[in-house]
Parts: sequence; C-alpha cells; structure tokens
Amino acid sequence: MISDRDLVALQRKGSPFTNTPVPRESAEASLARIAQNGADMERWELVPVDSCRCCGEPAWANLRCTKHQGRTPCVVEGCKRTTKRFMTYYVCGEHWKAYVPPGSPERRVLNRLARTAKKLGYSKTERWPDDLEARWWRAWDAIARRVHRRSTEGMMDEAEIRRMFGWADEG
Ligand SMILES: [Zn+2]
Ligand SMILES: [Zn+2]
Repeated sequence: MISDRDLVALQRKGSPFTNTPVPRESAEASLARIAQNGADMERWELVPVDSCRCCGEPAWANLRCTKHQGRTPCVVEGCKRTTKRFMTYYVCGEHWKAYVPPGSPERRVLNRLARTAKKLGYSKTERWPDDLEARWWRAWDAIARRVHRRSTEGMMDEAEIRRMFGWADEG
C-alpha cells in the first residue's frame, strides 16, 4: 500500500486548467520562486490531489488512479502488489509468508476455522455457512490490520536507523 504522497497542484486561481500534481515541497519551492519574481501571490493556490493507494500516482476521489480502479492494494506500507478481488484488506503472497508464517497464532486461528468448515462438509472453494464465513473474515481483517500496523512500525525503525547513522538525507 502506498501512503498519501501529499501531492498538490500549483494553480492560478480561477484557471480552468489543472496543473500536473507534484509533491508539496516542490510546489512550495515553485511558489517561493514566483514570489521572488514579484508576482501577485493572491492569484495562486495549492490544490491537494489524492494519491493512488496502489501506485502513488494522482488519483480519483476513491484513492485509485485510472489504471487501478477496482484493485485492492496489499496492506503493507510501500508494497505495490494489488489484487483484482474486492476486499477490505489484502495481503500479497510474499508479505503473507513474511508476516504470517506457518505455525503462527494467526494461521492457527484461520486453520481452526477451515477445519470446522471441513468437518461440516464444506471445501475451501465452497460458500460456508454465514456465521462461519463472518468469523473467517473478522479474523482475516484483524490479521491484515495487524500486518499493516507491523509494516508501518518497521518503516519507523528504518527511519530511526537512518537518523542514528546520519543517513537522514538519503533515500
Ligand atoms: Zn494507481
Ligand atoms: Zn505486499
């Protein structure tokens, strides 16, 4: 999942045209240059533009770009993998293995529900009874939210390490 890139379009007020969205810092730098050249600052504005949760490009109001309409991004911060399945939370195969390894408590919860379904005579590809499906998705959502949280904590650790070694300005 790509977090909001804080894109803005530097716009002349009342203009019918939309300028190309850019990161806020670079728009503010342009604005400062315009000010230095003595332009009337009242005539310019920074218009926020949403970024696509799948790829980070400028997005429509549903936080997807044109290419990624109908896609669900992996919950892991920075991951660009998506699925065409409609789900609230998706975890790609690689991150599933990394964050929810075989034998983990999360997998045991899902395996237990799958065993219950099997005992009742349902296969994995069949629809299960409503209450069992609801339990499955509740468990899945909780696990995916936890994966997301852990992935953001990981990113904070990386930022911390960069600061410790004085790499703050790189990458
Ligand atoms: Zn996109
Ligand atoms: Zn992923």
